[in-house]
Amino acid sequence: MSSAVHQRQPHAVLIPQPAQGHVTPMLHLAKALHARGFRVTFVNSEYNRRRLLRSRGPGSLDGADGFRFEAVPDGLPPSDDHGDDVTQDIAELCLSTIKHSAAPFRELLVRLNNSSTPVSCVIADGVMSFAQRVAEEMGIPALVFWTTSACGFMGYLHFAELVRRGYVPLKDESDLTNGYLDTVIDWIPGMDGIRLKDMPSFIRTTDPDDVMLNFDGGEAQNTRGARGLILNTYDALEQDVVDALRRTFPRLYTVGPLPAFAKAAAGGAEAELDAIGGNLWKEDASCLRWLDAQKQPGSVVYVNFGSITVVTAAQLAEFAWGLAGCGRPFLWVVRPDLVAGEKAVLPEEFVRDTKDRGVLASWCPQERVLSHPSVGLFLTHCGWNSTLESVCAGVPMVCWPFFAEQPTNCRYACAKWGIGMEIGGDVAREEVARLVREAMDGERGKAMRASAAAWKESARAATEAGGSSSQNMDRLVEFLRAGCD
Ligand code: UDP
Repeated sequence: MSSAVHQRQPHAVLIPQPAQGHVTPMLHLAKALHARGFRVTFVNSEYNRRRLLRSRGPGSLDGADGFRFEAVPDGLPPSDDHGDDVTQDIAELCLSTIKHSAAPFRELLVRLNNSSTPVSCVIADGVMSFAQRVAEEMGIPALVFWTTSACGFMGYLHFAELVRRGYVPLKDESDLTNGYLDTVIDWIPGMDGIRLKDMPSFIRTTDPDDVMLNFDGGEAQNTRGARGLILNTYDALEQDVVDALRRTFPRLYTVGPLPAFAKAAAGGAEAELDAIGGNLWKEDASCLRWLDAQKQPGSVVYVNFGSITVVTAAQLAEFAWGLAGCGRPFLWVVRPDLVAGEKAVLPEEFVRDTKDRGVLASWCPQERVLSHPSVGLFLTHCGWNSTLESVCAGVPMVCWPFFAEQPTNCRYACAKWGIGMEIGGDVAREEVARLVREAMDGERGKAMRASAAAWKESARAATEAGGSSSQNMDRLVEFLRAGCD
C-alpha cells in the first residue's frame, strides 16, 4: 500500500441491523472510532431514520465533523397505520434486508468511494452479512460486529451442529414442557453445563425450515468469512467462551462494554458527538427527577423489557400485581407497543393503589437510570445491552428472558456471575413479588449486590488504559488503519 493511502484519513462505514439493540452498540462503536481519528458513515434504515428524526428532533442526524449519517431502505412496507413508531417484525426484517438493502448499500459505497475520502473498511452487523459480502466484492475489507454476548454468539454458532446431531428441531411440541430442554450439552467449547433451554430461543421449534433458526444459524456461520469479529463484551466476564472463540477467530476483538468508550469519547474533544443518540423512542427524562426525589439509595425496582419484547395482557397484569405486592418503589417503562396487538393498558386499581410509590414511562434514558443511586434492582428481559448496562452500573437483576439469546444471558447472569435470579416459566404475581423482595432484602440479594459491585469494578478495569478491552480497541484501530490484512 502506498504511503499516500496510509496517510489518508481512514473511513469506516458501519451498518447495524435496524433494531434498537443493534443500533445502540453500533453507534457506540462508531463514536469510539471517530474519537480515534476515523471518518465515520453510519447507515440507518430509512424507517429508523424517520423514527430518529422524530424521537430526537430535526437536525439530530446532521452528524458532526467527520461523522455522517446515511440511510438505505429495509424493503418492508410502511407501517403508517402505527404511526411508524413500533418495533418491526424481526423475522420479516431479517429476510427483507437481505433482499432489499444490498443493492442500495452497494450504490452508497460506490458514491462514498467517489468522494474525497473513499471507504477503507465496512463494519457490518453480524446479522447483515449481505453488507460484508457487498463490501468484499468491491474490494473493501469487511469486519463483523456481532452485537450479542459471546455466549449468545457461541450458541448461534452451534445451531448447525445441534441440527446435525439431531437435538433440533424438536420432535414435537411436548418437548417444550417434558424436560427435554433440560438436556445438558457437554460439547460446546467454553460453555460447560449449558442446557438446551439456555441456548438462543430459536432452537425451540419443530420446524426444520424455521426462519430464525436458519437465519441466525446461517449468519453466525457467515462470520467465519469476515476479516475480524468484534464483540461487545470483555474477556474476564466471559473468559471461557472468549478463549474458545479465539481458537476459531484469531482476529477477535472483545471491546466491551462499549458505552464506556463512547462516553470517554464524548467527554473529550468529541463533545459535539454527545448530541448524537440512537434511541428510536422519545426519551422521557422526567423519571430521573423522580429518582432524584427518592430518599433511600438502592430502593427502587427498575422494570424494562427493552425494545422488542411483547407480553400478553394477562402477563402485563401479573407483572403489575407482582410489583404492587412487592411493596417497593418502582419505575416501570411500558412501551406503547409492549402488549401484542393492542395498546398496553394497566389495571386501573393497580395504577390507583401504587401511585404514591410507582412511576410509569414509555421510554427512558436507561443507562442514566441504571446508574442512578436510587436504583437497586433491574427487572429485565436480559437483552444483551441491558445486561451489560446493568453489569456496568453494578445493579443486580431479576430476569425474565423473552427470546433470542436472552435465555443464554440469563443463565450466565444467574449461574455464572451471581447477579441474577430468574422468574421461571410463565410469569406469576406471587413469584414476581417474592423474587423482588428476596433480591432487595434477602440473603441472596446481599450476595448478588456484592457480586454486582465486583463485576462493575472489573468492567471498569477492562476499559481503562491497559485493560483488556482498551488494548483490544487499540489493536482493532491498528488493524483497520493497516487495511485489515
Ligand atoms: N433502552 C433505553 N430506554 C428504554 C428501553 C431500552 O434506552 O426505555 C435501551 C437500552 O439501554 C439498551 C437498548 O435500548 O441499550 C435495548 O437493547 P437490549 O439488547 O437490552 O434489548 P432489545 O431491545 O434488543 O431486546
